[in-house]
Amino acid sequence: MILKLNSSVNSADAAKLAEEHKAFHITYKGSEHLITSSSLKEVPSSITDKVDQDWVFANDMQLSSREFQKETREVKIGDLTIGGNSKNTILIGGPCSVESLEQIQESAKMIKSMGLTTLRGGCYKPRTSPYSFQGLGLEGLKLLAQMREEHGLSVITEVRDATHIDEVIEHSDIIQIGAKAMYDQGILRACAKINKPVLLKRGFGSTLQEFVQAAEFILAGGNDQVILCERGIRTFETNTRFTLDLCGVAYLQEYTNLPIVLDPSHALGYRYGVERLAKACVAMGVDGLIIEAHPNPSVAKSDAAQQLTHDQFKSLKSAIEPVANSVGYNIV
Ligand code: PEP
Ligand code: MN
Repeated sequence: MILKLNSSVNSADAAKLAEEHKAFHITYKGSEHLITSSSLKEVPSSITDKVDQDWVFANDMQLSSREFQKETREVKIGDLTIGGNSKNTILIGGPCSVESLEQIQESAKMIKSMGLTTLRGGCYKPRTSPYSFQGLGLEGLKLLAQMREEHGLSVITEVRDATHIDEVIEHSDIIQIGAKAMYDQGILRACAKINKPVLLKRGFGSTLQEFVQAAEFILAGGNDQVILCERGIRTFETNTRFTLDLCGVAYLQEYTNLPIVLDPSHALGYRYGVERLAKACVAMGVDGLIIEAHPNPSVAKSDAAQQLTHDQFKSLKSAIEPVANSVGYNIV
C-alpha cells in the first residue's frame, strides 16, 4: 500500500510515521511524502487525518505500478530525458569491456561523431569463468571518466558486487546492475541511496515479478530513477545465447511506469541479427537500446561474437531511425 501524506506532515514526521508502520518513507516529486509497505492493507485509523490519497495493490508492484503513477517516469541522462512525454529512444553504444585507452577512445569518438550521447563499457565483468578477462576495474572507470570529460558524453558501466559500488557510482552517470547481480541486496540497497539513474538488467532466470521486485528495492529506498533492461532470458533454445522476452516487454510497458531499455546484443549473442532484432525492439516504442560495438570485435576480450563493428553500429542506427519514427519516437 502507498499512502500520500498531506502537506501538514513534514519530512521528519513522515519518517517517524513510516518507522511506526514498518514502512518506507519516500520523498516524491521533490516535496510529497509517501509511505509504502506491503503489510499495510488499509489506512490506519490513527492517521486518516494525515493521508491525502492511498493506493492498495494486489502484489509488490507498488511504486513502479501504473496504478500509482500512470505516466512513464522521466529519467534524465545528462541533458537528455527518457520516459515522460519525451518519446525518446536513447541509443547507448560501446564495447562490452573497457580494454585500453586506444580502444575506448575510438568508441567514444564514434558515439560522439554519430550525434549520440551515452557510452557503455564494463570495467568489473561478472564472467562465468575465473580464467576469462575480468575487466580493468578502477583503471577502466578512470578511462570512462576521461571519455566523459574529453567528449562530453554520459557513461554507463556495470557494478559486479557491492565491494566496488562506491567507485562505480563516483565515475559513472548511469549505474548498470548486471543480469547476474539483479538479486544482489548490497547493490540494490546502495543504488537506492543515490541520486543517479540505475539501469537494472533482468536476471536471465528471473520472472517479471522478481524483476519488478528488485526495482522496488531501489524505488522504495529512495531513488526514483530506475530503468528496466530486458536482455534475454534462458529458455530451452541453445542456438541463440538467450531469448529476448518481448512479451515481457509488453507486460512491463502495460503495468509499470519505468522506462524500458532493451539489449538485443546479449539476448542474441551473435552479431548477425542484432540489427534486425533492434528494429523489432524499437517498433515496440521503447525508451532505449543498449548495443555492444567494438573497434575490432575479433580481438575483443569479452563477448567477441556479439559486438558489432563500428560500421555495423552506424548501419544499425540508420536502420532503426525510420522504425522509431513510425511509432512516434526519435533515436537520440
Ligand atoms: C554486459 O552488459 O556486458 C553484461 C555483462 O550484460 P548482462 O549483465 O546482461 O549479462
Ligand atoms: Mn557484454
